[in-house]
Amino acid sequence: MTEPNQPRPHATVGVPQPVTSQPMPTPMPDTLLGAQATAMAEARAAAGGRGSDPLSRPYTLPSRGLWYPPGHRGQVFISPTRGEQEEVLAGMEDGAAAMVSLRHVVGQVVDLNGITLDQLMLEDWPALLLHLLAYSAGDDRVFLAPVCPKPRGCGKASNQTRALGDMECVELRLAAPGESPTWPQPIEETEEDEELAILAEICGDIEGTTEAIVDPSAVVEPFTAEPLKLTGDKVTWRYLRMSDLTIAEDFAQRTDSTSTKPGTKLNNVLLALHTVTLNGSKPGLVGAYSWIKRTPSEALTHYRRQIERRSFGYSMRPRFKCRCGHSFRAELPLDGSLFRGGRS
Ligand SMILES: [Zn+2]
Repeated sequence: MTEPNQPRPHATVGVPQPVTSQPMPTPMPDTLLGAQATAMAEARAAAGGRGSDPLSRPYTLPSRGLWYPPGHRGQVFISPTRGEQEEVLAGMEDGAAAMVSLRHVVGQVVDLNGITLDQLMLEDWPALLLHLLAYSAGDDRVFLAPVCPKPRGCGKASNQTRALGDMECVELRLAAPGESPTWPQPIEETEEDEELAILAEICGDIEGTTEAIVDPSAVVEPFTAEPLKLTGDKVTWRYLRMSDLTIAEDFAQRTDSTSTKPGTKLNNVLLALHTVTLNGSKPGLVGAYSWIKRTPSEALTHYRRQIERRSFGYSMRPRFKCRCGHSFRAELPLDGSLFRGGRS
């Protein structure tokens, strides 16, 4: 029996791997973490948690639990959806109401191993949904139907079957002593050259999962950004959690703004939620948002890029190749439509 959602060997695209014939030493005392993990597992079993569902399967989130309580290690337990959840997913509309239903379904079938859904990192959310989707379908693939964009593409819905292992994903791992970190990634100054990407595809470079090696000092929140271009503002920031997404969705619904592209209201509120301190003081959400409103675009772009270089997990814009031959990137739908093959 294949177990597609089990931790699997990682492709090594683009990330130099340490040269060693020894098993990688773990960077923290393994016995202590192991003991904590065992204690958490026992507590879960004693509480009659979903870890006791015979169909539940462990999955390790891309964050590897680096920002979760010690001993968590990013491990969650995913049960396949049953008829009850199918009905919720089938009746789901898009937008904020859909996200409420989707959270409810995840709450029913995913055991987050001692953390709440609000505490889940936003970077781990697509990974969780994709694996829940694939596991529920009894497969290690997901079915998506992004529209092939005109004018270079055909403009039709492009049916795609993607193996989870072929989707672009960055998983983190703490550096062992003496090992060189490969993350955070450098800031990309140029947009992706589409023709180079197509050439890479023709040569057979699949995206797949890469493991990024993290310096233990690089995981401590908040992070200090370089002084921003033009304004010199000094900003510290943190990762977003699902509780932040709830706030942003509420705002989006009330202001009728659902796009997350840079420069939209929703994107700017998310940027404000990232912000912890501004020139040494805590601005709060309203203060951070008004600061963003009056900050020049060049400075904001500089800020966004510094956050992006610490991103991980599944790419929200995977590349697709249509039958017409056009290669394009499309946003992953992370609401109910993901469970309908990406159709809205
Ligand atoms: Zn096409």
